[in-house]
Amino acid sequence: MAYVGLGGNVDDPRVRMRRALAAMADLPATRVAGVSSLYRSRPHGPQDQPEYLNAVAALETALPAEALLEALQAIERDAGRRRDGPRWGPRTLDLDLLVYGTLRLDRPGLTLPHPRIAERAFVLAPLAELAPELEIPGLGPVAALLQACRDDSLLAREAAAP
Ligand code: ATP
Ligand code: CA
Ligand code: CA
Repeated sequence: MAYVGLGGNVDDPRVRMRRALAAMADLPATRVAGVSSLYRSRPHGPQDQPEYLNAVAALETALPAEALLEALQAIERDAGRRRDGPRWGPRTLDLDLLVYGTLRLDRPGLTLPHPRIAERAFVLAPLAELAPELEIPGLGPVAALLQACRDDSLLAREAAAP
């Protein structure tokens, strides 16, 4: 199973996340096996930007991890994502590959699990909803990571789904 983090904070991110879920369901040899609730969080990085909406989707896919990330980046581009702003600045749609089975990888364009999972409540909370016992390779079970997480930027569970 692969887990994808969805986020965004400008131009109706909820609609873009819904479209992104439909686009993921359309990928070859891929099924959306689950979607978390939608969460609201304070921005990391620059503070002078709108709140974020975040969710996590579980994908059952036969695509290799690199191909999956490329497909996710194509979906971001289709959602109008630009890469010329500041780091952690405002974005229409961000799709991060959080976990890909038990794979651990450290390549220039792809690190797995995603390197900042453990410090982000806006990732751990929706992930724990879908798979509390999921073992994040090298880090431990999601529920334990969430309990230990010091991040206070998570504001609320906003809605049942994106
Ligand atoms: P963060 O990675 O801290 O969440 P970000 O999502 O804003 O920040 P991006 O600008 O979207 O960062 O991505 C920067 C680069 O991260 C991408 O070019 C991508 O190749 C690389 N990357 C490495 N590992 C991953 C991963 N597991 N998922 C998504 N992108 C990754
Ligand atoms: Ca991200
Ligand atoms: Ca990203």
